[in-house]
Amino acid sequence: PYVIGSECIDTTDMSCVEECPVDCIYEGDRKLYINPKECIDCGACEPVCPVEAIAQDRRVSDDNEPHIADNRRFFVEV
Ligand code: SF4
Repeated sequence: PYVIGSECIDTTDMSCVEECPVDCIYEGDRKLYINPKECIDCGACEPVCPVEAIAQDRRVSDDNEPHIADNRRFFVEV
C-alpha cells in the first residue's frame, strides 16, 4: 500500500482524498492516513500531493519509515 509521511503533518491538503477511487484516506489530528487494508495501490494519490508526502511503502525514505508503523497504529485505534 501507499503511505503518507511527515510532510503531511499540519498540511492535510486533502487533494489525495478526492483522488482516491476507494476512499481509503482518512483524516487524523495532524495528518492524513491511508488504510493499508483498503489501498489498492493505484498510485493516483501520489502525484496530486503538493508536498510529495505520499509514497509506496516499499519506496519510503528512511525518514518516513516510522510512518508505516504510525499508519498501522492509527487504523488499529480507530
Ligand atoms: Fe487510494 Fe490509490 Fe492512493 Fe491507495 S494508491 S491511497 S487506493 S489513491
